[in-house]
Amino acid sequence: MLNCRVCGGPVEEFLDFGQQPLANAFREVGQTDDEFFFRLAVGLCGSCTMVQLVEEVPRIRMFHDAYPYHSSGSSVMRKHFDATARHFLETELTGHDPFIVELGCNDGIMLKAVAEEGVRHLGVEPCGGVAELAKAAGVRVISEFFQDSTAAGIRAADGPADVIFAANTISHIPYMESILSGVDRLLKPDGIFVFEDPYLGDIVRRSAFDQIYDEHFYFFTARSVRAMAERHGFALVDVERLPVHGGEVRYTLARQGARHPTASVAELLAEEEELGLGRMETLRGFAANVRKNRDDLVALLTDLRAQGRTVIGYGAAAKSATVTNYCGIGPDLVAYVTDSTAAKQGRLTPGSHLPVRPPSAFSDPYPDYALLFAWNHAEEIMAKERAFHEAGGKWILWVPEVRIV
Ligand SMILES: [Zn+2]
Repeated sequence: MLNCRVCGGPVEEFLDFGQQPLANAFREVGQTDDEFFFRLAVGLCGSCTMVQLVEEVPRIRMFHDAYPYHSSGSSVMRKHFDATARHFLETELTGHDPFIVELGCNDGIMLKAVAEEGVRHLGVEPCGGVAELAKAAGVRVISEFFQDSTAAGIRAADGPADVIFAANTISHIPYMESILSGVDRLLKPDGIFVFEDPYLGDIVRRSAFDQIYDEHFYFFTARSVRAMAERHGFALVDVERLPVHGGEVRYTLARQGARHPTASVAELLAEEEELGLGRMETLRGFAANVRKNRDDLVALLTDLRAQGRTVIGYGAAAKSATVTNYCGIGPDLVAYVTDSTAAKQGRLTPGSHLPVRPPSAFSDPYPDYALLFAWNHAEEIMAKERAFHEAGGKWILWVPEVRIV
């Protein structure tokens, strides 16, 4: 039996994807023999209900100077984080000489707006490449992993923080004990710790199993986050559903007694209770849906190949790695994937080794079908690629079920 990384309780496995590569480890052509694989499987803590991976990948394998994901690559995300910065500037950073710290600030997508207002800030970003981009955007950054000792250093140099923020970062970090004691050390008595991550409720509802890959160690709910917060003297005082990345929740933690929880906390807890998100039978049902989606998708692609149709993938997002590898989708089923990230072009997708081509390849000529890996941007993409549809092309979606559009 495994022990929960948050509370030490018993973790029971409910879904096993088998051996999987690192979702952002794109390969050079011809350099595929030394690929790193690990067993990707998910379990539920019977005590605090935290859903988590059962095997941990060493952090330096995932988060390094060549980390290829740039938050600012998407206009939707730029808008989202600009609004986030405005919100903090207007509601939380209004006292004397306020200070905001962002954990995993990536290329400075959020802090840029804070820096432009001349407000004290610090980004903590272990991936050197994106940290350099943040610096170039005028953001103050240290290129380190955040943990208790990092927090002590920041507190000594800059004093306590009004806000500690993290987007798509906290769920990546198994060693939560050190994170939360670091937050405790760094935060003002009435400060807030705000983080947003993929929401287990949305993943289960949509059978969106592609959210499960090496970098996503935890899958949060209001219930599991509240339990985690309370272990460290914090309270969950607000939750907000976010439409980004296929469904996330923004959690706000404050010291116990410092703030009144908003009604949204009790509402989301009640919704989770009704969905049964903390129960093994619900998660086993989710696992059965995932297996069905896999079987349906493989059957469809195999059928299209038998008919001589051309199929390509659209968007080599990190989360497409679990889909292609779990379903066994190789270049025989999907000829190539297009992606606008220059660092991925000319390379092969991890594990499945689909060639990644620039977006211009898509219309040269159009394929019969395009598998939409970036399904969370479906509307934006379909509007942009209207000519593909008009030319008779069809999209294949597999969330929440496999279908042709
Ligand atoms: Zn636990």
